[in-house]
Amino acid sequence: MATQTATQKNPSFVLKEAGKVIYEDRPVPELPSPYDVIVKPRWTGICGSDVHYWVEGRIGHFIVEKPMVLGHESAGIVHAVGDKVKTLKVGDRVAMEPGVPCRRCLRCKDGKYNLCPDMAFAATPPYDGTLARYYTLPEDYCYQLPEHMSLEEGALIEPTAVAVHITKQAGIRPSDTVVVFGAGPVGLLCCAVAKAYGATKIVTVDINEERLKFALDYAATTSFRTARVSAEENAKNMIKECGLGSGADVIIDATGAEPCIQTAIHALRLGGTYVQGGMGKPDITFPIMAMCTKELNLKGSFRYGSGDYQTAVDLVATGRISVKQLISGKVKFDEAEKAFGDVKQGKGIKILIEGPEE
Ligand SMILES: [Zn+2]
Ligand SMILES: [Zn+2]
Repeated sequence: MATQTATQKNPSFVLKEAGKVIYEDRPVPELPSPYDVIVKPRWTGICGSDVHYWVEGRIGHFIVEKPMVLGHESAGIVHAVGDKVKTLKVGDRVAMEPGVPCRRCLRCKDGKYNLCPDMAFAATPPYDGTLARYYTLPEDYCYQLPEHMSLEEGALIEPTAVAVHITKQAGIRPSDTVVVFGAGPVGLLCCAVAKAYGATKIVTVDINEERLKFALDYAATTSFRTARVSAEENAKNMIKECGLGSGADVIIDATGAEPCIQTAIHALRLGGTYVQGGMGKPDITFPIMAMCTKELNLKGSFRYGSGDYQTAVDLVATGRISVKQLISGKVKFDEAEKAFGDVKQGKGIKILIEGPEE
């Protein structure tokens, strides 16, 4: 692909339509309000959702109807600040929270702004993402990185915040036993956050042996590979092999896969808690009788809400969780399409794209 992004004013990596990406020179943004800042994103992680839009052109009822800049897992350097901005100055290094809610609706006022129906979220149609030279955000959606934290680590704050929100929904307490289905970036980070919150036993579950090995090195204490048997049998085997006694206190699903969800419900203890973090098929067969008679607590989890981004920065800044190990590759801006291809093929854990050259 021929590109001259270096000479463009605001080079942007744009999804034209399903399967087709191009580099476009977009207008340089102006500050939308005196409370906003313009950031130059320096590193951006590729997320499964970006790849999904690239391949399918849609996720559920979010449909790409006009060209959209991709990317939402970014950290960058403040380039300009509005008159009313108090806490940031030009040159500050920040993690960029990519979803800005309306701040006015009932859910926003309720403190659950991730449920805002008018959320403007980067790289979710019709809103442009962060894979560009410039990106505007309100001051309070930028989180300063301490000096010892790199911008690469800053880009990993987004999936970390997803994990922080999932574990918040799960209400993990010290000495809980926690099972996490899926050892991709979010599953791994859920293991790490559960560990930071004092969970004693953390079981990572996947079908990929290599991923399980990584998860054990990273944050899990035990691993379990599901077999092609019934969900109830998988659950029974997992409880026995992993020493989960009468079942796990908390189970997080970071896969969205039907057999995982079914196994999870059967592997929970009476009165245990289940959180759905992964997105898969919209409808599945669900063991609702077990849920009823075990009096399980079931919760969904969507993106991140009040305090989650700051908690994620703090967890990394204090060394309670490490995100460096999750970075499996780094590419230049001009190689973004190749990086998307690698993620699609399931290569590596987290690939970062560098911001455009000056
Ligand atoms: Zn993401
Ligand atoms: Zn709102």
